[in-house]
Amino acid sequence: MRASRFFVSTLKEAPSDAEIVSHKLMMRAGMIKRLGSGIYSYMPMGLRVIRKVEAIVREEMNRAGAIEMLMPVVQPAELWQETGRWDKMGPELMRVKDRHGRDYAIQPTSEEVITDVVRTEIKSYRQLPVNFYHIQTKFRDERRPRFGLMRGREFTMKDAYSFDRDVEGMQRSYQLMYDAYVAIFNRFGLQFRAVAADNGAIGGSGSHEFHVIADTGEDALVYCSGSDFAANMEAAEAPGLLAQRQPPSQPLTKTPTPGKTRCEDVAELLGLPLSQTVKSVVLMADAAEEGGEKQLWLLLLRGDHELNEVKASKVPGLGQFRFASETEIVEAFGTTPGYLGPIGTARPVKIVADRTVANMNDFVCGANEAGFHYTGANWGRDIPEPVVCDLRNVVEGDASPDGKGVLAIQRGIEVGHVFQLGTRYSADMKATFLDVNGKPALMQMGCYGIGITRILGAAIEQNFDDKGIVWPASIAPFEVVLCPMGYDRSAMVKEETDRLYAALQAAGVDVIVDDRGERPGVMFADWELIGVPHRVVIGERGLKDGSLEYQGRRDAAATPVALADMAEFIR
Ligand code: ATP
Ligand code: MG
Ligand code: MG
Ligand code: MG
Repeated sequence: MRASRFFVSTLKEAPSDAEIVSHKLMMRAGMIKRLGSGIYSYMPMGLRVIRKVEAIVREEMNRAGAIEMLMPVVQPAELWQETGRWDKMGPELMRVKDRHGRDYAIQPTSEEVITDVVRTEIKSYRQLPVNFYHIQTKFRDERRPRFGLMRGREFTMKDAYSFDRDVEGMQRSYQLMYDAYVAIFNRFGLQFRAVAADNGAIGGSGSHEFHVIADTGEDALVYCSGSDFAANMEAAEAPGLLAQRQPPSQPLTKTPTPGKTRCEDVAELLGLPLSQTVKSVVLMADAAEEGGEKQLWLLLLRGDHELNEVKASKVPGLGQFRFASETEIVEAFGTTPGYLGPIGTARPVKIVADRTVANMNDFVCGANEAGFHYTGANWGRDIPEPVVCDLRNVVEGDASPDGKGVLAIQRGIEVGHVFQLGTRYSADMKATFLDVNGKPALMQMGCYGIGITRILGAAIEQNFDDKGIVWPASIAPFEVVLCPMGYDRSAMVKEETDRLYAALQAAGVDVIVDDRGERPGVMFADWELIGVPHRVVIGERGLKDGSLEYQGRRDAAATPVALADMAEFIR
């Protein structure tokens, strides 16, 4: 590629809405351009990275025996009604009507469509197992789109769906995909961790998430250094994680009157003096019983920073929420007092009381009026049973649930998710096949997602410095940039640059030559910002004694390399 015929568009400053480093650097490097909230154009430089990510994913999926196809973005509502997800998905599912008034979903994933394909195409056990995948545009009307490609509304996902004759087969297919994911993330050159996870709105019986390790990650991962125990902290009840740990005890000196909350108990629970002024109080119900989910009750106190910290560490179930200010709470839940509706995909949240109170007594009265009371260590109303194993409350150094060491916590960005679905979809959609005995049986499914566009953000969060992005070579927009000093002024420089360019191209190296005629300072700053892993400077001075200057993106200084050896050196 010649830079003069490509599109390089860099910025000195990132736009003010870019909060985290990957978003800032992608904007500055001209990789993406914002069109609307959570909606971006992939600019030529960014698209090259996306294509490389896709190519690696495609190769490993094919190697694992998955078969590529392409399913529609716009999908008839009827299919979504068959599985109940038309209602269950809530506002995250983008819905449109056609000119006849018929309803459609813009796909957030494609379980319904693939199950429809398979129930009509697959008749016999002889055709199973089979695994179909596609790399396709998704739309999720995220409550809080942010961080550029990290949490977009329109984004690209690779989603695969396996169909098996029985549970053992499904588990084999799942393991194949799990292994393929390990291979994929290794090829990206990223530091990652697979953790046990919650199935969320997709449903089914078991799942693992793949996380790129980064401090800015939205998820907290808890893992044991002495064993392979690793889980997303939000996966409090993921299969295999249950029951080993009791909820942290909240010793109370006074026994609360059943059905009635006493302000002393609340104050003690929260570690607050009785006279504490509380700005306002919100009671929320998380994961309500509707839809068969477990019921957890959360209490959020809006107020000063200190108060939130106290609350977050003392109230069961609140470990995952830490807020510095009232604005942050409102933003995180995208809500206003009195809002009633779902948060995220699986967690209906109800604000049942919101009032500004002068002291704990007023708050407790307010909660009582709203029909809430305090029992044991739980806040709530009609609590079915206590949460047995709540990873959300563990701290570094706690014993691992498997008893094999102590727990550590790190943050991660969810870049992939594999699920065992069982018959969650095949049952609703009657996807059957004739088994060995000629009897109809339900197909056992698995589904497997990778956030293609999110990978870009995650890779940068893990690989950057004060000059810009440092792409791992496997997904860099270009592997090598040639920076000639005076391409348009020196015949010698032009000749040697063109010669090296041709040699590298012939060797299959993805090389760009910067023939824009920019000053060296501008050239270097641009390619450092864009994050090309290898740079070669071609100048008259060096050429006179037969050498070029090589500098790796992470190197502190350039190394002279003999002209004749450069093509070999880069490879
Ligand atoms: P999250 O917890 O971040 O909302 P999810 O669990 O809802 O993600 P899945 O349904 O598991 O996402 O989808 C598979 C993959 O798609 C995720 O692991 C993630 O990499 C990617 N993904 C999900 N939502 C987004 C988004 N809004 N923008 C970009 N990528 C996304
Ligand atoms: Mg989500
Ligand atoms: Mg998730
Ligand atoms: Mg997920």
